[in-house]
Amino acid sequence: MHYKNSNTMKKKITLLVPTMIGMAALALFLQGCGNGQNKPTVQQEQAVLANEEEKVEVELEQDDDKYYLDCPNNHHPHSIDLGLPSGTIWACCNIGASAPEEVGDFFAWGETSTKEEYNENTYKWCKNGNVFKMTKYCTNGDFGNVDNKTSLDVEDDAAYVNWGDQWRMPTEDQLMELMRNTSSEWESRNGMTGKKLTSMTNGASIFLPSNMLNRHISQEEVDYGVYISSTLGSFAFTATCFWAVADEESVGERRRELRSSIRPVRKM
Ligand SMILES: [Zn+2]
Repeated sequence: MHYKNSNTMKKKITLLVPTMIGMAALALFLQGCGNGQNKPTVQQEQAVLANEEEKVEVELEQDDDKYYLDCPNNHHPHSIDLGLPSGTIWACCNIGASAPEEVGDFFAWGETSTKEEYNENTYKWCKNGNVFKMTKYCTNGDFGNVDNKTSLDVEDDAAYVNWGDQWRMPTEDQLMELMRNTSSEWESRNGMTGKKLTSMTNGASIFLPSNMLNRHISQEEVDYGVYISSTLGSFAFTATCFWAVADEESVGERRRELRSSIRPVRKM
């Protein structure tokens, strides 16, 4: 079922504004043609340009609380409304990226800053570099101190810490929802391969660039994307994540101490 609420209305209204300005500009052009002129006058062209500038201004002013169907300009991060049942909004780009196709920063699960090396020795939650001695987020005594925490506290959420209160890392459920409600396409943007996920309900899309290279799958270099959630995996030493390869995607698990990208989400 597609949800409907006041925010949906707000989105439609804000999207209509540029369209109406565009029609006014078109009317100006038609008026010029109707007067027997083959080309619009300089004055008319300036009027059209002024209207286009106005359109850009309308969008920029509302970047913070406006929802988009696709990343519209360089003022990232944008909130992309894929029409998902839970109302979850996805960011247009990764943490640390300055474009949707850029990989951006890498994080180990539950860490909020980047570093040189990502392994058990540098991992914040491994005691003495031992993956069987987790000091936080542990559901099994064989793997560390049991605290039965299965989702990241906000202070350990890299999206919250780096982007502010309205953003979070996605949960496992939000990854599942994203996968189930979008169609996927492996494509290249500005030389970066990745997965374009397109909403089945409203046509909105996000692009998840591949961020890993795996030489073990075949003789050739095969690139793929790994995006971690805020949800602990079924083992205390794994985190739930989204995997994207050329011909499929899945929600699986990954060792906590390894590096991954993060695509933040927010609620409407
Ligand atoms: Zn954007």
